[in-house]
Amino acid sequence: MKLGEARHWVFDMDGTLTLAVHDFPAIRRVLEIPAEADILHHLAALPEDEAAAKHAWLLEHERELALAAQPAPGAVELVRALHGRDCRLGILTRNAHELALLTLQAIGLGDCFATQDIFGRGEAPPKPHPGGLLQLAERWRVAPGELVMVGDFRFDLECARAAGARSVLVNLAENPWPELSDGFARDCAELLGQLG
Ligand SMILES: [Mg+2]
Repeated sequence: MKLGEARHWVFDMDGTLTLAVHDFPAIRRVLEIPAEADILHHLAALPEDEAAAKHAWLLEHERELALAAQPAPGAVELVRALHGRDCRLGILTRNAHELALLTLQAIGLGDCFATQDIFGRGEAPPKPHPGGLLQLAERWRVAPGELVMVGDFRFDLECARAAGARSVLVNLAENPWPELSDGFARDCAELLGQLG
């Protein structure tokens, strides 16, 4: 199936639909997370009190980012075009559900996604785990192979591969992971152009 015929689209949020603003090295410094560690996995392994305090800090920090979110080039046009074609649209993010809602509203896409189709870190295991995509496929009653996952990082592509979905990388000048991606566009405007 051609990408332009796909009816079920799942987007990463930060850095895909929005301009990347997370300063992960700074987050790691504040939360004392080693450079090589996965932030969410690291927090999950901490004693309960410490994990709760650090999650609270992260949520507050990310809330400020959400309110100031800016759309990535072409992201609003792409999502609106797919929405206008009656495609099912979902979000799979490592951010929190409520902050995903805030962010989508801030960039003017709040009406394009059903709340139940926005999967944050509370609704699905963090990517690259395929759980979120598999849940969306089940919700939408389609085979995972019908889904297209659009993201800006290796985790998004690996998540798609593990689920049996198709993967599109956006927002990089070149594709460092051709073996993991079924499609590539330098931004969402270019991706929209590829859909025809
Ligand atoms: Mg991202």
